[in-house]
Amino acid sequence: MPRFIPFNRPHLTGREFAHLQEAVSQDHLAGNGPFTGRCQRWLMEQLGARRALLTHSCTGALEMAAILAEAGPGDEIVMPSFTFVSTANAFVLRGATPVFVDVRPDTLNLDERLVEAAITPKTRAIVAVHYGGVGCDMAALTAIARSRNLVLIEDAAQALLARRDGQPLGAVAPLAAVSFHETKNVIAGEGGALLVNDERFVRRAEIIWEKGTDRSRFLRGQVDKYTWQDVGSSFQPSELTAAFLWPQLEDSAMTTASRLAVWNTYHAAFEELERNGVARRPIVPDSCEHNAHLYYLMLANAASRNDVLARLNAAGVNAIFHYVPLHRSAAGRRFGRAPRDLPHTDRVSDSLIRLPLWAGMSAADVEYVVEQVYAVAGQCAV
Ligand SMILES: *Cc1c(COP(=O)(O)O)cnc(C)c1O
Repeated sequence: MPRFIPFNRPHLTGREFAHLQEAVSQDHLAGNGPFTGRCQRWLMEQLGARRALLTHSCTGALEMAAILAEAGPGDEIVMPSFTFVSTANAFVLRGATPVFVDVRPDTLNLDERLVEAAITPKTRAIVAVHYGGVGCDMAALTAIARSRNLVLIEDAAQALLARRDGQPLGAVAPLAAVSFHETKNVIAGEGGALLVNDERFVRRAEIIWEKGTDRSRFLRGQVDKYTWQDVGSSFQPSELTAAFLWPQLEDSAMTTASRLAVWNTYHAAFEELERNGVARRPIVPDSCEHNAHLYYLMLANAASRNDVLARLNAAGVNAIFHYVPLHRSAAGRRFGRAPRDLPHTDRVSDSLIRLPLWAGMSAADVEYVVEQVYAVAGQCAV
């Protein structure tokens, strides 16, 4: 049997079914029930968020953030091009224009030193994406956002339980979005949350989340009926999603530790590969505690990357690459703009590979991946 190492295996705690059963036996299956409350309290307590609202996806949470930031036609939103499409789509849906800025060559995060130059009188918000759970320079970005009166938003999809300067990611900017998609560290199949860290957004966030009504206030006994107050949509997940998520949140520290063990094994094993000039490993600044969301290697160029990927997959190692930069994609060109060249973004997206990584990945599987990377990289032109 040829060996096959998948890119990801969804991590299960073993208690998901029991909680699903509990949710089904309660008379509350729609959103905003007991499990939703539990998950939201956990997020507020663990991260120190002012308010947490579960959503059906991080995409949905970003869409809520775009409404809260009052992004509209003519507005510009500064963001990296090296990110997932939802970062930009959420604002394009409001009629705003993504303005793509290059990433730092070390962390592959939005380069805070380039943000000022991208700001115009039309700029409304800045979106910081914490790539691989390694935090952006939030101190610098917060200072820029405050001095220019812009809304700072964290796309913390990959960053649950990671920190920068001791602060939990997702709890720094006024608004943040996290993901519980199957490919993230803590999962609910599809799922996410909006974290509101600035009191001035809390009330409107609850209304947008409740399809534009003040139902949250009604449920707290603050009004005697609920009515249409504002725009909103169906952003809540059902209680089934929240029930599945609950044990995942309870075990999230263990899950993160397990991923970190794999990450650290890769990192030690590829030191020699880096010394030989074949690939560069991830760079994590001292101020960051990452969450081992992903492990990547950067090869010399697109040709060697594509060669390594093909050979690894032929050897049963399901390595993958991402992202096609937004500024080079069809929709990115149509809806957004890049005021300057983005040389680091272009180079990173041409040369990066991601290796299989999941919580509980066996030492034998990790070793096989390491062996294959060395075997394959030795054959490739660099
Ligand atoms: C996964 C991801 C998203 C989207 O998350 P969903 O929960 O799948 O909607 C958005 N931004 C980034 C950076 C992501 O990695």
